[in-house]
Amino acid sequence: MHRHDPSIARLADHALDYALERVRMDPVPLDAPKSYEELHAAVGETITPDGIGGDKALQLFVDVLAPACISVDHPRFFAFIPGAPTEASVIFDMVVSASSIYTGSWLEASGAVYAENQALRWLADLAGFPESAGGVFVSGGTSGNLSGLIAARHRWRTRTEGRHDRTRGAILASRSAHSSVVQAARAMDADVFDVPVDERGRLLGSALRSTIDALSQDDRDRVFAVVATGGTTNVGVIDDLRGVADVCEREGIWFHVDGAYGLAALCAPSVRELFVGIERADSFIVDPHKWLFGPFDCCALVYRNVHDGRRAHTQHAEYLDVLHGGESESGPWLEMNPADMAHHLSRRARGLPVWFSLATHGTRAYTDAMEMTLDVTRQAVDEVRRRPDLELVLESDLTVIVFRRLGWSSEQYAAWSDHELATGHSFVVPTTWRGETVLRLCIVNPRTTIDDVRAVFDALEQPT
Ligand SMILES: *Cc1c(COP(=O)(O)O)cnc(C)c1O
Repeated sequence: MHRHDPSIARLADHALDYALERVRMDPVPLDAPKSYEELHAAVGETITPDGIGGDKALQLFVDVLAPACISVDHPRFFAFIPGAPTEASVIFDMVVSASSIYTGSWLEASGAVYAENQALRWLADLAGFPESAGGVFVSGGTSGNLSGLIAARHRWRTRTEGRHDRTRGAILASRSAHSSVVQAARAMDADVFDVPVDERGRLLGSALRSTIDALSQDDRDRVFAVVATGGTTNVGVIDDLRGVADVCEREGIWFHVDGAYGLAALCAPSVRELFVGIERADSFIVDPHKWLFGPFDCCALVYRNVHDGRRAHTQHAEYLDVLHGGESESGPWLEMNPADMAHHLSRRARGLPVWFSLATHGTRAYTDAMEMTLDVTRQAVDEVRRRPDLELVLESDLTVIVFRRLGWSSEQYAAWSDHELATGHSFVVPTTWRGETVLRLCIVNPRTTIDDVRAVFDALEQPT
């Protein structure tokens, strides 16, 4: 375990060679899951008193473990919400790993925090946030939503001067909101009041208005946040952010926008208009590991007023005192501690791969890549309309396509999906829309071409 052990140096070469080879594979193999029995037969016990040796462990990873993990960046990975990190971001993720940076505090990681903050500022500017904005990169949208909502509740309780310190709070959100919103409420022991959606699954300002009006005064007083979605996970529609902002402003309620998937498209002029209203949010999240070409795991959480985040999340202890004192009570906080912005303390510099890739390619390349995925999606939608066996279920705002294969049962969808994955052809899974099993494609990879999509549609026309 010595630093200059020659066998470790050789191992490092092998591991780095493999890593570079993986980054440059084009296309990567799709791969597929294996059962516990299959993996156990091929791998067995690897943690032993003497170790099995790095060469053996690496070989097991390359030959058995990695092929049992689906490549999210495969151009025909259309399930869930995939990701497609740039080569620059992946390489820099390795640099971050090599650098042993504790990125919780300005004291320990000023250089890294400075660079991460430039990437956050780019996002804040895209949203039209003021100078007071700031935030942090957390592990994912689930954690970002929880931290944003904790800050919302903190502000509500502070503003009501202790009257609600023991009141169970409530969040207003629609059924189209991501599962992590309900999960955050559960973690916070808060309620979620349902706001009905329109026919495309969107939360509108008018429905929010009537939902609030129908609440009892006690329930109304418990509401500390409204969550709107900037690109729903299931069907890719954008809530009425402007209408929701109007209501939140009038009612003095924190407005959180969950844009884990969709807010990446703030940099895409062809759809930017759909996000009008985001500039009035109190907080938003967007996952660079989804549609902003960064590696796992990475979510940008941005507060309109950085101090809202700080007041809710700063941890206090004798051994942390040295980190505090520099923060002003208002105005931009330039030498911030990322630990103070979310429900965490120690953290990886997970924003640096995003920063490095942005710095390398420039923001215009991001706009171009984003527009490419939007363009392939539009072509794919036209293709669905042209094919007699397929039928579009609803019009998406972004890059999710939800459609039917006419005449198929849910068993047929499932069997077809399994077959596609098992043969390494594509990864597409069914979803449900208003109780009906349908198919869903999500396109976030600029390497996905219309021919990749056509290959999936062709496969749907084969008899099963
Ligand atoms: C994916 C997603 C999340 C959860 O993000 P994770 O990074 O998977 O935790 C939250 N909200 C929306 C809208 C999403 O699409």
